[in-house]
Amino acid sequence: MATVVVLGGNFAGLASALETRRHLGRTDDRIVVISRVPDFLFVPSLIWVPFRERELEDISFPVAPVLEKHGIEFVEALGTRIDPEASVVHTDRGDYEFDYLVIATGPQLDWSIPGTGPESGHTEYVGTPPHAMRTREAFERFVDHPGPAVIGATQGAGCIGAAYEFLFNFEYHLNRHGVRDRVELTWITPEPFLGHFGIGGFPHAEGLLKRFLEHLHIRAVVNAEIDHVDPDEIVLTSGERLPFAFSMLMPPFMGQAVVRESPGLGNARGFVPVADTYQHRRYPHIFAAGVAIDVPPPFTTPVAVGVPKTGYPADEAGKTVGENIAHLIRADARLRERPFARIPGLCVMDAGHKEVVIVANHLLGPRQFSAIIPNPMYDEGKRLFEKYFLWKSRNGYSALP
Ligand SMILES: Cc1cc2nc3c(=O)[nH]c(=O)nc-3n(C[C@H](O)[C@H](O)[C@H](O)COP(=O)(O)OP(=O)(O)OC[C@H]3O[C@@H](n4cnc5c(N)ncnc54)[C@H](O)[C@@H]3O)c2cc1C
Repeated sequence: MATVVVLGGNFAGLASALETRRHLGRTDDRIVVISRVPDFLFVPSLIWVPFRERELEDISFPVAPVLEKHGIEFVEALGTRIDPEASVVHTDRGDYEFDYLVIATGPQLDWSIPGTGPESGHTEYVGTPPHAMRTREAFERFVDHPGPAVIGATQGAGCIGAAYEFLFNFEYHLNRHGVRDRVELTWITPEPFLGHFGIGGFPHAEGLLKRFLEHLHIRAVVNAEIDHVDPDEIVLTSGERLPFAFSMLMPPFMGQAVVRESPGLGNARGFVPVADTYQHRRYPHIFAAGVAIDVPPPFTTPVAVGVPKTGYPADEAGKTVGENIAHLIRADARLRERPFARIPGLCVMDAGHKEVVIVANHLLGPRQFSAIIPNPMYDEGKRLFEKYFLWKSRNGYSALP
């Protein structure tokens, strides 16, 4: 009987645990998911929370009943350290020995650029529930007292698509509140050109975004590198100063403290180096999936841009991990390889009641096929996808795409 511990219970963690169980069947093997939060959260919909288009309860559900239905234990605890040699995860609620471990702990936010971030700085963030709620309050104050606004991503950020989505939703809702004409809106991005997205760009994406930003009277600054942020001004390393009364900036991600504080496990930023089977390069009984894995950018840019590790590859990696762990438990050495860069690109980008669908045969180049397609049906694609993914996850249908 083997024990599989999965640390993190969201996209990558849930898929890894459910797929391990599905491939193993109802054996005596023990699968334990340890997560610091009790709920699954559909993170992509957080961009709608500040504008009251979604409440947190619309996009989350308790994960324990789903897991228990599939013979998987759930423990609400914070993983604090992993000992890969002794095969133990230490948590704030006890230690868990494992035969196989999956690290699916997602990102920790890096606010090291002075003045960035909601807690120690002056800019908002939308990617966690408390931050999205705080951004809602800041947005509503801003609507009462409009002024200049700066939306964007810092150097090194890897989730630039979500910042674009926030920008277009912000613009749309300023219009709805009747204050758009009182807001000078600037988009700042470390990308070398609009629509690079941290994946090297797409045919026609740059032209499309350029036209769209011009049409909406949004000024764009590419190759933007932030020196620091003052309470009402963003100062770029070029010396340019961008005053703001509201700002939302996407920061770079790091691996979680549990990885950074476990010697030998992660790289300098706390991301886990994995092979194409999602096994740790040094400890083959340890797997990682989702944002937790190390994906070095396959390109160089004048200002650092990170690779986006989005939901689709997190789910796909989780599936590969589940299959491979089941193989290893059955002493079957035929492991599946699914390199991150070769996973198809599939993303719906909301643009404030409009959307574009981004498809590519591979996430990272070289690609044989890629396209960015405006959806004539407003933004129904992303809204339908959210409903589908929540339904699939709530029911534990992890084999579905
Ligand atoms: C604002 C925003 C919008 C986005 N929009 C899109 C989109 O439109 N499409 C798309 O494909 N992707 C999008 N993404 C990216 C997507 O959300 C991520 O790819 C996905 O969440 C990654 O899944 P994950 O399981 O690796 O990490 P997460 O979803 O972050 O899950 C990690 C889990 O581990 C838990 N955890 C962390 N540390 C510990 C610990 N030490 N002990 C126990 N538990 C721990 C966390 O609480 C969390 O529940 C967006 C991201 C953001 C921030």
